Amino acid sequence: MNVSVVLFTSDLRVHDHPPLRAALGRGGEVVPLFVRDPAVARVGGTAPNRDAFLADCLAALDAGLRERGGRLVVRSGDPVEEVCAVVREADADIVHMAAGCSGFARHREDRLRHALEADGRRLYVHDAVVTALPTGAVTPAGSDHYAVFTPYFRRWVQERLREPLGAPRVVRMPQGVRSEDLPARADVDGVSEGLAAGGETEGRKRLSAWLARGVDAYGDGHDDLAGDATSRLSPYLHFGAVSASETIHRARARGGAGAEAFVRQLCWRDFHHQVLAARPAASTDDYRTRNDRWRRGKEAEADLRAWREGRTGYPVVDAAMRQLAHEGWMHNRGRLLAASFLTKTLYIDWREGARHFLDLLVDGDVANNQLNWQWMAGTGTDTRPNRVLNPVTQGKRYDPDGAYVRRWVPELAAIEGSAVHDPWKLPGRERARYDYPEPVVDLADGLARFRHARGQDEDAA
Ligand code: FAD
Repeated sequence: MNVSVVLFTSDLRVHDHPPLRAALGRGGEVVPLFVRDPAVARVGGTAPNRDAFLADCLAALDAGLRERGGRLVVRSGDPVEEVCAVVREADADIVHMAAGCSGFARHREDRLRHALEADGRRLYVHDAVVTALPTGAVTPAGSDHYAVFTPYFRRWVQERLREPLGAPRVVRMPQGVRSEDLPARADVDGVSEGLAAGGETEGRKRLSAWLARGVDAYGDGHDDLAGDATSRLSPYLHFGAVSASETIHRARARGGAGAEAFVRQLCWRDFHHQVLAARPAASTDDYRTRNDRWRRGKEAEADLRAWREGRTGYPVVDAAMRQLAHEGWMHNRGRLLAASFLTKTLYIDWREGARHFLDLLVDGDVANNQLNWQWMAGTGTDTRPNRVLNPVTQGKRYDPDGAYVRRWVPELAAIEGSAVHDPWKLPGRERARYDYPEPVVDLADGLARFRHARGQDEDAA
C-alpha cells in the first residue's frame, strides 16, 4: 500500500485542496500533517491573535479529517526534520504541499526537497493553492512579475482558474503515527477581545452568507467605515481555511457589479503575492527606494507611541488603531489612513507600522501587509507615490456621520455628526469637556515636511 504525507501550511482546509486530492488519488494511505515551526514566530513576531485563530483552524481541519476517517497529525520543531521523521515512521514515498510565496516558504521547500531526495523520497509542490492564479503564471514582456496593479488585473481577469475541488469522502490513514495534542485557543494569552472565530467551517459559513447577502452592496459600501460592509474573509483566506480560487468561482457565479468589485480586491491579493514571490527582499527592503531618511529614535518615539495607542488626536486614525487593538482586524480604509498618517504625515518608517500591524492583525501576512505598507509609503507599487491622505477630509468622506469614530473613541461619543472628525475646532470651553489629546502634528506642517523630504510638491488627496 502506498503512503503519502500531505503537509499543510497556509491551506488549512479539506475543500478545494489539490495536495490532499492528489495524495488520495493514488489510492493509498495519507498522513495529514501540520508542523508548528518556532521560526515562524521568530519571523512574524509574537502574534497571539494569529496563534488563537490558527488553533481554531487546526481544530476545524482535524474535525474535517475525522469526519472522513482521518485526523490531523501535529508536530513541533523544524519542519524539514519533522516531515522527514513522519515520512520515515509512516514509510511514505512522497510529500505533497502547497507552493508558498515568501522567501521563507521557498527556502523551506528547497530544504525539504533536498532532504527527501537524499532519502530516496519525493516532494510535490502544488501551485494555485494559496493564491488563485500561480505566482508567475502571467508576466509582462521583459519582466518576471507585474509591478503595477491595473495591467496585472487586465491579464489576470482573462486567465482561467482551475476548477474548485470538492472535499474528499474518505481519508485513509496508516496506523500508529504519533501526534502531539492540538494547540487550544484558550491557552493563548493576550488575544484581542473581539477576535473572530477561525476555522474552515466558520469560514465557509461566512463565505456563503456574504455571497447571499453582502456582496451585492460591496461596490458602493466597501469604503464606508461605519457600515462595515466588507466580507471580513481576510483571516480565513490568510490561513487558507477558505480557498481564494473557490471564493472567486463562487462570486463569479453569483454575478453582478458587487461581485465583480469583490473579485477585483481578491486580485490585489494575488498581485502582492506575485510581487513578493519575484522580489522576496520586499518584505524588509524598499521595493522602490525614495531615499527616505525617516524620522527615528528619540525624535519619533512619542509620535510612534501615540499612533500605536490610538492617541494621535486625529479621530479617524485613532478609531482605526483602536479597532485593530480590539478586534485584531481593521477596515481597509482605516488601514490606508493609519498607514498614510504614519509614513507621510509623521514621516516614520513603514517598517515600524508594518511590524505593529503584524503583531496584531489576525490576517497579517508578509505579502499583503508589507506590500500594502510599501504601497502607501510610496516605496512600493503605487503609481502616485507621494499622495498623502488627509485624515480629516477622508474621515468626513468615508465616515460622514462620524459613527465609526464614536464607536471606537468613546471620549468623543457626545459629539454629533461629522464634527467628530475635528474636535479641536470646537469652541474652547466645549473642547475642554473631552478628555482627548491635541493633534500630535499640524497637518500642514506634516505635509510640508514630507514634501520637502521627497523633494516634491504635488498630490495631496
Ligand atoms: P474585502 O474588502 O472583503 O476584500 C476581499 C478580500 O480581498 C480580502 O479578504 C483580501 O484577501 C483581499 N484584499 C482586499 N484588499 C486587498 C489589498 N489591498 N491587498 C491585498 N488583498 C486585498 N490584507 C491582508 O489580508 N493581510 C494583511 O496583512 C494586510 N495588511 C494591510 C496593511 C495595510 C497598510 C493596508 C492598506 C492593507 C492591508 N491589507 C491586508 C489589505 C486589506 O486591508 C485587507 O485585506 C482587507 O481590509 C480585509 O478585509 P475584508 O476581508 O473584509 O476585505
